[in-house]
Amino acid sequence: MGHTSTTASIARRRVVSLTTLSVTFVAVFGSSIGVDLLSRWTGSIDGIWLSNAVFLAIFLKHGRRDWMAIAIAGFTANVAADLVAYNFTYAVTFAILNLLEVLIVALPLRTMVLDRDFTRSSSLIAFYALAVGPAPGIAALLFGAFAVISEHTQFFPAAINWYSSDALGLAIVTPPLMTVKWSDVKAMFGRDQIAGTCLLLSTVLGAIVLNFFLRNYPIAFLFFPAVVLLTFQRGFAGGTAALLMTSAYLLVPALFGQSSGALHSHSIREQITVVQVFIAVLSFSVVLVGAALEERRRLGQWLAAAIARAENSREEALLAKESAEKANRSKSMFLANMSHELRTPLNAVIGFSEMMHSEIFGPLGDRRYREYTGLIQGAGKHLLDLINDVLDMSKIEAGKQELHRERLNIMDVVRDALAMMQEQAAAGQVALEIDANTAPVFIQADRRAMKQIFLNLLSNAVKFTPEGGRVCVTTQTEGDRVILSVRDTGIGIPAEQIYRLGNPFVQVRNNAGTTQTGTGLGLALVRALTEMHDGTFRIESIEGQGTTVSVSFPACARETLAA
Ligand code: ATP
Ligand code: MG
Repeated sequence: MGHTSTTASIARRRVVSLTTLSVTFVAVFGSSIGVDLLSRWTGSIDGIWLSNAVFLAIFLKHGRRDWMAIAIAGFTANVAADLVAYNFTYAVTFAILNLLEVLIVALPLRTMVLDRDFTRSSSLIAFYALAVGPAPGIAALLFGAFAVISEHTQFFPAAINWYSSDALGLAIVTPPLMTVKWSDVKAMFGRDQIAGTCLLLSTVLGAIVLNFFLRNYPIAFLFFPAVVLLTFQRGFAGGTAALLMTSAYLLVPALFGQSSGALHSHSIREQITVVQVFIAVLSFSVVLVGAALEERRRLGQWLAAAIARAENSREEALLAKESAEKANRSKSMFLANMSHELRTPLNAVIGFSEMMHSEIFGPLGDRRYREYTGLIQGAGKHLLDLINDVLDMSKIEAGKQELHRERLNIMDVVRDALAMMQEQAAAGQVALEIDANTAPVFIQADRRAMKQIFLNLLSNAVKFTPEGGRVCVTTQTEGDRVILSVRDTGIGIPAEQIYRLGNPFVQVRNNAGTTQTGTGLGLALVRALTEMHDGTFRIESIEGQGTTVSVSFPACARETLAA
C-alpha cells in the first residue's frame, strides 16, 4: 500500500512539473513572438515586453526545486522565439539577458521571503524597487553594449528601448498575475455580480469614450477614478480588467504613432514612452488600492476570529464557574447530610460512655474500665466538635446558615467565652484576661455565631501560647465600628503564611513550635461568620512574639443604643 501511494505521489509531482514546464514554454514563447510580430507589424519599437513578466510570475509561484527546470524551459522558449528572426548567437544572448533580468527580481524576493504574497505592501514595494530598477537596468546596459559591438548601433537608444519596454512589462503584468485569482475573475462574471460588473466596466468605457471625443483636452485623469472604482468593487481582478481596457485604448494607437490629442505632434518613441509611464502609474494605483483593501479584509477576518475566540472563552469561563459552584454546593450538601448522620450515633456513644463512666447502674469492676470509658467520652466529644465545625462550615458554604440577629451586648458574649475557656487556659498555665474597658458595646448579631467566633479565637490563642504566656481580649470603637482583638504572646505565625489562613483546612506548615493538632476549620468559620455579619477579619502576627486576631462589626446606631 505504502509503496503504491509513494509511486503515485512521485508520478503526480512529475505531472505537475511537466505541466508547469509546458506552460512556461508556451507562455514565454507565445508572448515573445507575439510582441515581436506586433512591433514588426507596427514598424515601431516594442511598447511593452510581456514574456519576462510571465516568466517571472511562473518563477515566483513555484518552489525553489522547480526553478532549474523552469529556467531551462523559459530559456529554450526565448531562444526558439528569437531564432525566428535572429541568428543563433543573437538568440542565445537575448535569452541569457532575459533570464538574468528575471532572476535579478526573483532571487532577492525569494531570499527575503517576500515573494509569497503580493497583496502585502512590503512585498509590493520590494518587487517594484527591483522590477523598475536593477533588473531591466542591468539587462538594458548589457544589451546596449551588445548592440554597439555586434551592430555598431548607438548605445543609448538600444538600452533605453530595452529598459522601458521591460520595466513596463514587469511592473504592469507581474503583479496582476500574482494577485488576480481565477476564482475572483469567475465570480466577477458570475450570475450575481455580472450586472454590477458590466455597470462598472461601462464607467471605464465611458471614460474612454469621453477621452476620445474630447481628445484635445488633457482629461486622461478620468481613467483614475474609473480604475480605482473597479478595484474597490471587484478587487485586483476588477482593477486589472479596467487597466487592460485603458491600456489597449492608449497603447495600440501609440504603437502606430497615431496617439490622439496633445501627444499627436510628438515622435512615435515619445508617444510610446508617455503612454508607458501613464499605464505604469495607473497599474501602480490599482495594486496599491488592491493591497490596502486586502489588508483591510485580512484585518476584518482577524478581528472576527479574535471576537469569536473571546466569546468562546467567556462562555467556557462561565460554564467552568457554574460547574465549580455546582460542585461546591453538592460537596457542601453532602457534608451537611453526612455530618448529621454521624452526629446521631455519636451522641449515643458519648451518652452511654458517660453513664458507664459515672457507674450509674453499678461499678464497672476493673479500674481500667473507668479510665477507658473516660477516654471514649473525651474522644467522642472531640469528634463531635469536629463534626459540628464541618457541619457549620458546609452550612455556610451551601448558603443554608441562618442568622438570628438580635441586638446584643457583645461584651457579654466575650465574657461567656472567656469563662468557658478558663479551664483550658489554666491547664496550659496561660493567663486569660479581658481589657479593663468593659463598657457595654451593642451590635446587631446572632448570639450563637458570636460565641463560636470568640471560642475559636480564644482556643487558638490558648492552644498556640506556651506556659507562662498571656491572652488578652481588647475592645475599641472606631467611628461606627467596634473592633475586638484577641491578643496572645504565643508562637506567632510566619509572615508568608498569614494570607493562607482563614480558608477551610488550612494550617501553618512546619509549625515546629507546636504539638497541637486541629482540623483547620476554626479560622475559616470565624472569617465566614464575621463576613456574614458585615464584619472584617484580620490577623497580625510576629513569629515568636505573638498573634493578634481582630474582628470588627458595625456598632448599633446611637439612637438604638439610647432606646
Ligand atoms: P481547629 O480550630 O479546626 O480545631 P486549628 O486550630 O488548627 O484547628 P484554625 O483555628 O483554623 O485551625 O487555625 C489555623 C492555623 O492557624 C492553626 O493550625 C495555626 O497554625 C494557626 N494559628 C491560628 N491561630 C493562631 C495563634 N493565635 N497563634 C499561632 N498560630 C495560630
Ligand atoms: Mg482553632
